[in-house]
Amino acid sequence: MGRLFIETLSGPRIFKCRYCKVDSASRDDVVSKEFQGRYGRAYLFRNVVNISLGPIEERQLISGLHTVNDVYCSSCQQILGWKYDKAYEPSQKYKEGMYILERERMLKEGW
Ligand SMILES: [Zn+2]
Repeated sequence: MGRLFIETLSGPRIFKCRYCKVDSASRDDVVSKEFQGRYGRAYLFRNVVNISLGPIEERQLISGLHTVNDVYCSSCQQILGWKYDKAYEPSQKYKEGMYILERERMLKEGW
């Protein structure tokens, strides 16, 4: 077993994993709040931390066909959202390399 490395984000507005409370993403990295996840509202982030990726797969989303990986908290293994690996529609290309985190699975502590 490797030792788990937990990254800590700086700044006053940090989203944390709801289940184990490690840092997941900074408010400053939110690109959009207008996304739909599996569990309701979801946010698009340009960067997230303390995650591990599931296998790559093709998935039909509301906005068309994408290649995605599910995103898990690297500390507690709960599923938090997904990563856009590849978009096929030119209008969706900006999402490549970005992450969706489910609002319901994040905690806003102290803000
Ligand atoms: Zn967690």
